[in-house]
Amino acid sequence: MTLAHILDHKGHDVVTARAGMSLKEIADILSAHNIGAVVVLTEADRVCGIVSERDIVRHLSVGGAVSLEDPVWCRMTSDVVFGDPSDTIDAALEKMNTGRFRHLPIVRGDVLIGLVSIGDVVSHKIAAGEQNTSDLIRYITNESYAA
Ligand code: AMP
Repeated sequence: MTLAHILDHKGHDVVTARAGMSLKEIADILSAHNIGAVVVLTEADRVCGIVSERDIVRHLSVGGAVSLEDPVWCRMTSDVVFGDPSDTIDAALEKMNTGRFRHLPIVRGDVLIGLVSIGDVVSHKIAAGEQNTSDLIRYITNESYAA
Protein backbone atom coordinates (compact mmCIF):
# COMPACT_ATOMS: atom_id res chain seq x y z
CA MET A 1 0.00 0.00 0.00
CA THR A 2 1.25 3.50 -0.86
CA LEU A 3 0.77 7.09 0.32
CA ALA A 4 -1.54 7.61 -2.68
CA HIS A 5 -3.93 5.08 -1.08
CA ILE A 6 -3.96 7.04 2.18
CA LEU A 7 -4.66 10.28 0.30
CA ASP A 8 -7.49 8.60 -1.64
CA HIS A 9 -8.97 7.73 1.72
CA LYS A 10 -8.36 10.92 3.73
CA GLY A 11 -8.44 13.52 0.95
CA HIS A 12 -5.94 16.05 -0.38
CA ASP A 13 -6.70 19.06 1.80
CA VAL A 14 -3.69 20.53 3.61
CA VAL A 15 -3.84 23.34 6.15
CA THR A 16 -1.23 25.90 5.08
CA ALA A 17 0.19 29.25 6.20
CA ARG A 18 2.43 32.04 4.95
CA ALA A 19 5.90 32.74 6.30
CA GLY A 20 4.96 36.25 7.46
CA MET A 21 2.18 35.08 9.78
CA SER A 22 2.86 35.23 13.51
CA LEU A 23 3.35 32.13 15.66
CA LYS A 24 0.21 33.17 17.55
CA GLU A 25 -1.74 32.95 14.28
CA ILE A 26 -0.23 29.50 13.67
CA ALA A 27 -1.17 28.37 17.19
CA ASP A 28 -4.73 29.56 16.49
CA ILE A 29 -4.80 27.57 13.22
CA LEU A 30 -3.46 24.41 14.90
CA SER A 31 -6.06 24.76 17.64
CA ALA A 32 -8.97 25.54 15.28
CA HIS A 33 -8.22 22.52 13.05
CA ASN A 34 -7.12 20.24 15.90
CA ILE A 35 -3.90 19.37 14.04
CA GLY A 36 -0.18 19.24 14.89
CA ALA A 37 1.54 21.00 11.98
CA VAL A 38 0.97 23.41 9.11
CA VAL A 39 2.84 23.59 5.83
CA VAL A 40 4.24 27.03 4.96
CA LEU A 41 3.87 28.20 1.35
CA THR A 42 5.55 30.91 -0.73
CA GLU A 43 3.47 33.47 -2.62
CA ALA A 44 3.78 31.08 -5.59
CA ASP A 45 2.26 28.30 -3.47
CA ARG A 46 5.47 26.28 -3.25
CA VAL A 47 6.41 24.67 0.07
CA CYS A 48 9.06 26.69 1.95
CA GLY A 49 8.70 25.16 5.42
CA ILE A 50 6.74 23.27 8.01
CA VAL A 51 5.94 24.38 11.55
CA SER A 52 4.64 22.04 14.21
CA GLU A 53 3.30 22.37 17.72
CA ARG A 54 6.75 21.30 18.98
CA ASP A 55 8.39 24.30 17.27
CA ILE A 56 5.94 26.64 18.98
CA VAL A 57 6.39 25.06 22.41
CA ARG A 58 10.19 25.24 22.07
CA HIS A 59 9.99 28.90 20.98
CA LEU A 60 7.63 29.75 23.85
CA SER A 61 9.88 28.04 26.37
CA VAL A 62 12.88 30.13 25.26
CA GLY A 63 11.23 33.47 24.49
CA GLY A 64 8.09 33.57 26.62
CA ALA A 65 4.61 34.65 25.58
CA VAL A 66 5.84 37.79 23.79
CA SER A 67 7.68 35.58 21.26
CA LEU A 68 4.34 34.42 19.89
CA GLU A 69 4.34 37.66 17.89
CA ASP A 70 7.46 36.49 16.00
CA PRO A 71 6.99 35.49 12.36
CA VAL A 72 6.77 31.86 11.32
CA TRP A 73 9.86 32.02 9.12
CA CYS A 74 12.14 32.41 12.15
CA ARG A 75 10.90 29.16 13.70
CA MET A 76 9.77 26.90 10.82
CA THR A 77 11.84 23.99 9.50
CA SER A 78 12.93 24.96 5.97
CA ASP A 79 14.64 21.69 5.14
CA VAL A 80 11.39 19.80 4.59
CA VAL A 81 11.39 16.06 3.95
CA PHE A 82 8.64 15.15 1.48
CA GLY A 83 6.74 12.01 0.66
CA ASP A 84 5.96 10.90 -2.87
CA PRO A 85 2.52 9.43 -3.65
CA SER A 86 4.27 6.23 -4.80
CA ASP A 87 6.13 5.76 -1.49
CA THR A 88 5.07 2.66 0.40
CA ILE A 89 3.66 3.15 3.88
CA ASP A 90 6.73 1.44 5.33
CA ALA A 91 9.00 3.85 3.43
CA ALA A 92 7.03 6.81 4.86
CA LEU A 93 7.34 5.38 8.38
CA GLU A 94 11.07 5.01 7.82
CA LYS A 95 11.34 8.70 6.79
CA MET A 96 9.39 9.82 9.85
CA ASN A 97 11.34 7.57 12.17
CA THR A 98 14.72 8.62 10.78
CA GLY A 99 13.86 12.33 10.86
CA ARG A 100 12.02 12.09 14.22
CA PHE A 101 8.94 13.94 12.96
CA ARG A 102 5.27 13.03 12.61
CA HIS A 103 4.19 14.86 9.46
CA LEU A 104 5.01 14.24 5.83
CA PRO A 105 3.85 16.69 3.15
CA ILE A 106 3.26 14.86 -0.13
CA VAL A 107 4.30 16.51 -3.38
CA ARG A 108 3.93 15.63 -7.02
CA GLY A 109 6.79 17.43 -8.74
CA ASP A 110 6.93 20.53 -6.58
CA VAL A 111 3.17 20.82 -6.06
CA LEU A 112 1.75 20.04 -2.63
CA ILE A 113 -0.98 17.40 -3.01
CA GLY A 114 -1.54 16.24 0.56
CA LEU A 115 -0.10 15.50 3.97
CA VAL A 116 0.03 12.32 6.00
CA SER A 117 0.62 12.19 9.72
CA ILE A 118 2.02 9.36 11.78
CA GLY A 119 -1.58 8.77 12.93
CA ASP A 120 -2.74 8.20 9.33
CA VAL A 121 0.10 5.77 8.68
CA VAL A 122 -0.40 3.80 11.90
CA SER A 123 -4.19 3.57 11.30
CA HIS A 124 -3.56 2.07 7.86
CA LYS A 125 -0.98 -0.36 9.23
CA ILE A 126 -3.44 -1.54 11.90
CA ALA A 127 -6.27 -1.89 9.33
CA ALA A 128 -3.96 -3.87 7.03
CA GLY A 129 -2.90 -6.08 9.96
CA GLU A 130 -6.55 -6.76 10.87
CA GLN A 131 -7.31 -7.64 7.25
CA ASN A 132 -4.37 -10.10 7.21
CA THR A 133 -5.59 -11.64 10.47
CA SER A 134 -9.15 -12.11 9.22
CA ASP A 135 -7.86 -13.50 5.88
CA LEU A 136 -5.75 -15.96 7.86
CA ILE A 137 -8.68 -16.95 10.10
CA ARG A 138 -10.89 -17.43 7.02
CA TYR A 139 -8.14 -19.52 5.43
CA ILE A 140 -7.72 -21.69 8.54
CA THR A 141 -11.45 -22.18 9.20
CA ASN A 142 -12.61 -22.60 5.61
CA GLU A 143 -13.50 -26.29 5.08
CA SER A 144 -12.57 -26.27 1.41
CA TYR A 145 -9.02 -25.35 2.46
CA ALA A 146 -9.03 -27.86 5.33
CA ALA A 147 -10.02 -30.72 3.05
P1 AMP B 1 6.52 16.88 14.50
O1 AMP B 1 6.97 15.60 15.14
O2 AMP B 1 5.94 16.66 13.14
O3 AMP B 1 5.66 17.71 15.41
O4 AMP B 1 7.83 17.76 14.20
C1 AMP B 1 9.00 17.72 14.98
C2 AMP B 1 10.05 18.65 14.34
O5 AMP B 1 10.29 18.22 12.99
C3 AMP B 1 9.61 20.11 14.21
O6 AMP B 1 10.78 20.91 14.35
C4 AMP B 1 9.07 20.23 12.79
O7 AMP B 1 9.21 21.53 12.22
C5 AMP B 1 9.95 19.23 12.05
N1 AMP B 1 9.23 18.57 10.96
C6 AMP B 1 7.97 18.08 10.97
N2 AMP B 1 7.68 17.49 9.80
C7 AMP B 1 8.78 17.59 9.04
C8 AMP B 1 9.13 17.18 7.70
N3 AMP B 1 8.28 16.50 6.92
N4 AMP B 1 10.36 17.50 7.22
C9 AMP B 1 11.26 18.14 8.01
N5 AMP B 1 11.00 18.55 9.26
C10 AMP B 1 9.79 18.27 9.77
